Order: sequence, then structure tokens, then C-alpha cells
Amino acid sequence: MKRVLISRILPDEVYAALSSFDVVRRDRTQPLAADEMRDALRDFDVVMPTLGDRFSADVFDDVPNPRCRLLANFGVGYNHIDVDAAKAAGITITNTPGAVTDATADIAMTLMLVSARRAGEGERLVRSGNWEGWHPTQMLGLHLSGKAVGIVGMGRIGEAIARRCHFGFGMSVAYHSRTRKELTFDARYHNDIVALAGEVDVLVVAVPGGPQTHHLINADVLAAMRQHARLINIARGDVVSQTALIDALKASSIGGAGLDVYEFEPEVPESLRALDNVVLLPHLGTATREVRVDMGLMVVRNIQAFLNDETPPNVV
Ligand code: NAP
Repeated sequence: MKRVLISRILPDEVYAALSSFDVVRRDRTQPLAADEMRDALRDFDVVMPTLGDRFSADVFDDVPNPRCRLLANFGVGYNHIDVDAAKAAGITITNTPGAVTDATADIAMTLMLVSARRAGEGERLVRSGNWEGWHPTQMLGLHLSGKAVGIVGMGRIGEAIARRCHFGFGMSVAYHSRTRKELTFDARYHNDIVALAGEVDVLVVAVPGGPQTHHLINADVLAAMRQHARLINIARGDVVSQTALIDALKASSIGGAGLDVYEFEPEVPESLRALDNVVLLPHLGTATREVRVDMGLMVVRNIQAFLNDETPPNVV
């Protein structure tokens, strides 16, 4: 019987769907340690890794002729896996695109609204017991309806965010990707992120992580943003230079930021936590029960197809 390692606690529906395999459930919430990753490649036919499991080239180098043939990633983002090294070791990688799209777009909207309307600050004020009551100039934020959003990475999630902004909030949409997209609503393409950053009220980051997008949002991009504009990152932490962002927030050269992900996650520096003009979420993009079940069942379909000698639906 094929051996499958499930590296995290998952909803019960997912374990039920895996019942025809010899499954080892790792009942921990922390990422796999270096030794666990090497053992996983040696001892299992299929491994389900996820965010934080750093399958870097040296892990594959240390396990020549691995038993593992499939890394069935739980999540659409797989920048924690060295894809070239995995492929060189003869290992297929799959992910879970689509299942995550709407939930992650919703978290982007949450961050946009909480940042623009200063809802985090407001909640802290009420909880502090120091609120002195409504007045016409209390905690004035940024009106989102009718404003301009800039999407960096017009893929599945970027487009879902753009649709929400355009159809829900009457916002104009501009975007940057390496290629122009065919869209069913008006959206202006920008080849240059700095130019895009300079003309929008909210800049949303929705590109994959990895070496190609590392610090795509750097000090130059932040310097181009308008003083009231918000930066929202629901992609991966290292797409944004955290140091440059903290400098911009401290100097109030941008209006604020909303972050679901962090450069050195789960570490969030005190210098960021101390700032009132940033909204900080603990990587909640896909954190709904329905979505985590859907992601898990997508992992199961990839595993089933692979072990039946079929091409899995979501090979990367
Ligand atoms: P996707 O459909 O592949 O979209 C990514 C888009 O980014 C593509 O349209 C691509 O267009 C663009 N892109 C890629 N590299 C680029 C570069 N170097 N410069 C500019 N644009 C680039 O992926 P998705 O499903 O929307 O997911 C996007 C990412 O969101 C995932 O990879 C994941 O890291 C993150 N995510 C986060 C959460 C969370 O919990 N916060 C949840 C789900 C996903 P071009 O090829 O034309 O450039």
C-alpha cells in the first residue's frame, strides 16, 4: 500500500477522503523540521507539504533516490519548495489553485477597508475605554468607493480583488503583470510598477512569492505612492521589502498598510507592531472551514490521480 504523509492537522472530511491510503497524520501545527523533511522523502510515496515546509535544494540533495514521487502541496503558493531541485529528483509537485481565490480576495477587501477606515485603530480605542464619543472630525479615514485600485499580479486572486473593487465599490482598476490580461471589465495595464504605484489610492500585491518577485515592492515603489495611499499585501511577505515599508509607515509617506503575510513570517517585528497605521493579520487568506476542506479535497484528488498513474489535475 502506498504511504502518504499528511504534514498538518486537517479537517476530518479530508482524512475521510484519504481512507483508502496508508496515511500517517502528523498531528502538529508547526512546519516540518529539517530531519522530518528528509525522512518524509525517504519513507513515503507521497508527502503533503504546506506553507513553512522549506523543501530547499539541500533537502533533495541529502536524499538521493527518494521514495517520494509526489509533493501534493496544500495551498496555491509553493515558493517554499525548490521546484527545480524537486523535478531533478524526479518528484512531481501539485498545488490547490482556485479553491483559495475568493477567500483570499475577501481578506484583501477586509484589509483595504480596515486600513482605509481605520477600523483597527477604532477598535483599539473602544477597547481601551478612552473613547470620548462621536464628533465630526473623529478618526477620519479614506473613502474607498470610486477610488483607484492598482493590482500587482493580475492572476486568479488579483482578478477576484479587481472585480470586487470594480463592481462592488465602483473603483477604477489598473494593474501590472508581466503580460496583459483579457478582462471583462475596464482595467488599465501598466508595464511599470512605479508608475502604477503613483496613480492609485490602494496598491494590492497578488503575485506569487519566490526569487522573481523578491522585493518587487521596494523603497522606489513605496516612494512613488501618494501620501494617503494604502499598500495591501495578501501574497507573500518577501514580495515587499519590510524594512522599506516600516520606514514609509514611520515617516507617514504613505497612508497605511494592510498585511496578511510577512517577510520573516511568523516573526513580526516590534517596529511594525508598534505602528498604528498598519493592519496586521496572521495569514488568514484562506482561513475558512469550507475553503480548507476544499483545499484538502483538491490535494486528495491530486494524490488519487497520481497513484492511479494519471496526470494529476494541478501539476505545477
Ligand atoms: P496566479 O493565478 O498564478 O496569479 C499570479 C499573477 O502574478 C499572474 O497573473 C502573473 O501574471 C503575475 N506574476 C507572476 N510573476 C510576476 C512578476 N515577476 N511580476 C509581475 N507579475 C507577476 O496565482 P493566484 O492563484 O492568484 O495566487 C497568487 C499568490 O497569492 C499565490 O502564489 C500565493 O503565494 C498567494 N496566496 C496567499 C494567500 C494568503 O493566505 N494570504 C492565499 C492564497 C494565495 P504574469 O505571468 O502575466 O506576470
